[in-house]
Parts: sequence; C-alpha cells; structure tokens
Amino acid sequence: MKLHEHQAKELLARHGVAVPAGGVARSADEAREIAMRTGGSVVVKAQVHAGGRGKAGGVRLAATPDEAAAAAAEMLGARLVTAQTGPEGVPVGAVLVEETVDIARELYLAMLVDGGVGRPVVMASEAGGMDIEAVAEETPERILVEAVDPALGLMPFQSRKLAGGLGLDGAAARGLARAVDSVHGAFAQNDCSLVEINPLVLTTGGGIVAADAKVTIDDDALFRQPDLAGLYDPSQDAPIEARAHGLGLSYVKLDGDVGCLVNGAGLAMATMDVAVAAGAAPANFLDVGGGADEEKVAGAVVLLLSDPAVRRVLINIFGGILRCDVVARGVVEAAGRAEGPIPPMVVRMLGTNAEEGRGILSRSGLEVTLVDDMGAAAAALGELG
Ligand code: GDP
Ligand code: MN
Repeated sequence: MKLHEHQAKELLARHGVAVPAGGVARSADEAREIAMRTGGSVVVKAQVHAGGRGKAGGVRLAATPDEAAAAAAEMLGARLVTAQTGPEGVPVGAVLVEETVDIARELYLAMLVDGGVGRPVVMASEAGGMDIEAVAEETPERILVEAVDPALGLMPFQSRKLAGGLGLDGAAARGLARAVDSVHGAFAQNDCSLVEINPLVLTTGGGIVAADAKVTIDDDALFRQPDLAGLYDPSQDAPIEARAHGLGLSYVKLDGDVGCLVNGAGLAMATMDVAVAAGAAPANFLDVGGGADEEKVAGAVVLLLSDPAVRRVLINIFGGILRCDVVARGVVEAAGRAEGPIPPMVVRMLGTNAEEGRGILSRSGLEVTLVDDMGAAAAALGELG
C-alpha cells in the first residue's frame, strides 16, 4: 500500500529524517495560509500515488502566498497525468505546500527488499533527481548498494561507506549516515517494502533534507500496522481495485477478457499462465484466499463480473480449508446478484467437497464447463474464445 508524500515525510520525520517545513492543503485558501505561515518561497506539490510529477506540472515553485494559492487552485480537483500513470491520470485531492530548499546537490537514497539478494538493501546515488531510472539503465555503477543482514541490522560502517561513496565528507557525510540510519529504522519498524527519497538534498548550507519521499507498506503486514492501514486512499486506485481492497481481496486489473477466480496466489499465477497458453488473456489476477466464506466468494465473483471486459470466466479451485461447495454456492449467489448476462464459465475443482461443488454448479442453470485438469481447462477456454 502506497502512502502519499506528506504521509511518508511525517513517518520519516518521526524516525529522524529532516524534511522541509510545510503542510497539506485541500483548498487554495489553505495553500495560501500555509505559504504565509512558512514564509518565503514555497513549492506546491500534487499528492498522488505516482512519481514523475516534476516533469508533469505536479511540482510548482511559488514566490508568494498568492502564487501558491494559484498553483494549488490549478492542481486541486484536476487529474495529473505523469509517465507513471495511465493516460487517464490520477485525481489530485491535496497538495503539499513546503518551504523550498536550497539545493547544492540532488542525491538518491532508497531502501527496499531485493528478492534476488534475499535481503533488504540500501541504495544510494550521487545522481539523484528526476532521471534516476535512466541512471539505473545506462550507468548502474553510479548506484551504490549495501545489503542489510536482517539479524544484525544496518552496520554503522555501511552508512559511512555510502556517505564516502557519494563523495561526502565532514558534516555532510555524518548527515547522510544519520539519514541512512533513520531510513533503515523507518523501513524495519513500519513493515515497509519501499522507502525512496529522491531527491535527498544536500543543501547549500551543508544539511541533508528529504525533498521528496515515497513509502510503500507491505500489504501482508497491514494487519499489524493499523494506523498506517488507515491511510489508504481509494481515490488513487482504479475503482474496481478500490472495491477489491474494501472486500479484502487481492485483485489486480489486467487487459484480457478471461475473468479468473482462484484460491492461492501461486495457483492464481499458474492459472493465468494456462489462460495465456490457451491464447486467451486474463482480465484480472484474483486470489480469494484460503479463509474465504460464501459471502466473500460471492463478493469476489460480483466484482470480477463487474468488469465489462470479462467475456468468459475461469475458476480454478483447489479445495482445502476453502471447500469447493462453499465456492460453488458463492458463485451461484453472485450470479443471482450480478447485473447483465453471466458469461460462460470453465471450472476446475479438486479437493475438499469437490463433487458437491461440481454438483451445485451443474444444477445451477449457469453455462458451466467442468474440467478435471489444467490442459482441459485451456482447451475449454479456447473453445469459448
Ligand atoms: P517527482 O518528480 O514526482 O519525483 O517529484 P519531486 O518531489 O522529486 O520533485 C521533482 C523535482 O522538483 C526535484 O527533483 C527538484 O529538482 C525539484 N524540487 C522539489 N522540491 C524542491 C524545492 O524545495 N526546491 C527546489 N529548488 N526544487 C525542488
Ligand atoms: Mn522525486
């Protein structure tokens, strides 16, 4: 789950990262007031769950409170399209109004879990700013990486090594090392999957300040981070994904026409592969999870069917804790609730109460093809295509 920049900065500040003074505005008047309180020139920044704002007009410098109000008025209520959003963009419901920082150098600092290394890593670069993706692509040696031993934590020499590698010395080097420590603390204690500060500014006065911040919380840890879970902003997700979030489902919208309903993320991935092998593209990734009940299954199917792109459905259930008859009842319940015609379904059910589940579906009056294995599922899907 992504946080907004202002939320990310609050979190990082609690762990000791220096951030510019400012506040969040939801109207032009609020933006003017914050700019007046802050004094001097400010930067007005669209709060959206996407980067690339600087190049898309979502970060504007304002010399006076009136200019700040004007910039806020333009951004608020509009949709911002950046290189990281779709062409429809994302809505701007709030702007962050902050004192400007005097930039001597723009550095890059991030922490994330590196699946390849199997550890969290700290990444730092002297080439921070708006083109870090190009740096990673073309001159990866300019990005320094320190893997963190999860048992030992970040070692002081690692922070110092990064500071040295960025060409910093004296107070700036100590400031950088402190920022790395703070980011590590924030990352570890808040179940983050990503903390990214770009740019981390070396100010003309020699200070180290986070001018931007991106924080992502691991969805699977949200149950033990209730305060952070409460920061979820549905306006930043596609409507169907926001509804899935409310139902507690893992749902990702994809481009194809095969609605997929599966229990277990691994099986869901394999099922999508089967759809693709049959020459069909999945319309979604959907894992109902092992602990689902009939109501949750029904909600999942209604959601899946609400996608107008879905023309056929592939249900692949390995009944364990989630019994096949529960899934079948949920599907029938959803078919009763859904609007419009119900597309044909290919269903593979194995495991607990599979026979009962198959019976419920075959008697349901729905257009269901029951299959025994993934090969037959692919063939049946192909015939519907
Ligand atoms: P992003 O494009 O979405 O990553 O937004 P950023 O917050 O990183 O802002 C983009 C760029 O705006 C930064 O790389 C800076 O060059 C510039 N910028 C952001 N805040 C300030 C500021 O306080 N002062 C100045 N001079 N430039 C800023
Ligand atoms: Mn940035």
